[in-house]
Amino acid sequence: MHDELDEALRLPERAVKEILPRVVIVGGGIGGTAAARALKKTPVEVLLIDRRNHYVFQPLLYQVATSVLSESEIASPIRQLSDSQENLSVIMGEVVGVDTAGREVVVDCENQSARRVPYDFLILATGTHPTYFGNDRFSEFAPGLKTLTDARRIRDRILGAFERAELEDDLNEQKRHMTFVLVGGGPAGVELAASLAQMTATTLRSNFRRIDPSSASIILLEGGKSILPAYGDELSEKATAQLKKIGVEIRTGVMVENIDADGVVAAGVRIPSSTVIWTAGVKPFPLGDWLGAKTDRAGRVLVGPYLEVPGHMEVFAIGDTAGVLQDNKPLPGVAQVALQQGKYVGNVIADRVRGRVGAQPFRYNDKGNMAVVGKNFALLQTEKMHTSGFVTWLIWAFIHIMSLPHAQNRIRVYTQWFWWYFTGQRSSRIIAEPEAVLSKGQKPLPFEPH
Ligand SMILES: Cc1cc2nc3c(=O)[nH]c(=O)nc-3n(C[C@H](O)[C@H](O)[C@H](O)COP(=O)(O)OP(=O)(O)OC[C@H]3O[C@@H](n4cnc5c(N)ncnc54)[C@H](O)[C@@H]3O)c2cc1C
Repeated sequence: MHDELDEALRLPERAVKEILPRVVIVGGGIGGTAAARALKKTPVEVLLIDRRNHYVFQPLLYQVATSVLSESEIASPIRQLSDSQENLSVIMGEVVGVDTAGREVVVDCENQSARRVPYDFLILATGTHPTYFGNDRFSEFAPGLKTLTDARRIRDRILGAFERAELEDDLNEQKRHMTFVLVGGGPAGVELAASLAQMTATTLRSNFRRIDPSSASIILLEGGKSILPAYGDELSEKATAQLKKIGVEIRTGVMVENIDADGVVAAGVRIPSSTVIWTAGVKPFPLGDWLGAKTDRAGRVLVGPYLEVPGHMEVFAIGDTAGVLQDNKPLPGVAQVALQQGKYVGNVIADRVRGRVGAQPFRYNDKGNMAVVGKNFALLQTEKMHTSGFVTWLIWAFIHIMSLPHAQNRIRVYTQWFWWYFTGQRSSRIIAEPEAVLSKGQKPLPFEPH
């Protein structure tokens, strides 16, 4: 059944020796890799397709953007998974459609015409990308934070802004370069703002001669009435107080009206800035269109109790791209949901392949949400407990180190954190595209659409 394709994709001989049911997984992020691992001992052929060659632990992207960590410390090649999993093959390519009637996904592989890849089971775990709520022109001036490229470009912009400020004679322009605006008061905006504030106050403090980096303005804009609304009033207030303590200015209840090369207009007020970062929203890839399936208001595919796409018991959607109601509330787009759903779907498929029936519907076990507000301060919200402070920060650090993909990532991050904690130094202060930063007239850096 799969002979032609196997030849085309040059799958290793071990995978085609016997005809096994093929599970195609689209997306090698948190959900997709969890599903692949759950199928390790199942007699199936697993084909994992991702448009990137690497897995990224997104919760630490903000630390790459603010120079604490480097790209490779929070990422790993997806292909490395096949070292320890015989039944897994990895393809780098972009899936551009699904033919549910023919049971094939359409893959656009670099420099080759589109290929059709047959599946017996399909798991869609394509995640989300930043959305500008219809104002796509903002993306040129205000990158979102979703990929390693985004994080590197944000780092370039931040470090480049200080370099420009150091060279600038006009005090207004200098102030503009030293004003950083973050749009969106969710966890990503809060974490980024806090880390940036601490970078200016410590790491960069004595590195310049004409400017004082600790006088930089970091402004966090939020359209709602408070930051981190999902964490409840008490933790939101604590996070606000902590951010203010480290020098972040918070403006709530303000809607962004325009973003251009000179800065931001919010609630009718222009804020001159050469660095604007967008963390206000994400949306899923258009799986609903591919599958002809219903989506929720956020664009996520509405799935059934086994995370199957209605009408297609062999197709599953998981993680940020799936809309699941539990106790009449939509599940949040967080790592734990993707991880648990990936494992669950892998087990459902394993049961079906082995002829076992009677799987229980998926139920998310909420272990709580965490957010970090700079060094030494984190928040934890569970159903029974709301807590914050230094001990919570230690728990946050431990959980995040343990969630990294491989031992090599854990050791490297631990070492970097140790050095950063005790010296204040951030070793990844590299401007990767200096040409763009130094361009006369401070043109916006090229931004790759998602
Ligand atoms: C900046 C940031 C901070 C975050 N912080 C936290 C946090 O502190 N705690 C928390 O719990 N969650 C956090 N999250 C959310 C968490 O990372 C996501 O919920 C989780 O990654 C979702 O997993 P997923 O498998 O659904 O998608 P992802 O992990 O995003 O993986 C999707 C994969 O699909 C691939 N892909 C997409 N489209 C295609 C296509 N057409 N063809 C082939 N491949 C494709 C992508 O390249 C990617 O590898 C954060 C997210 C971001 C962006």
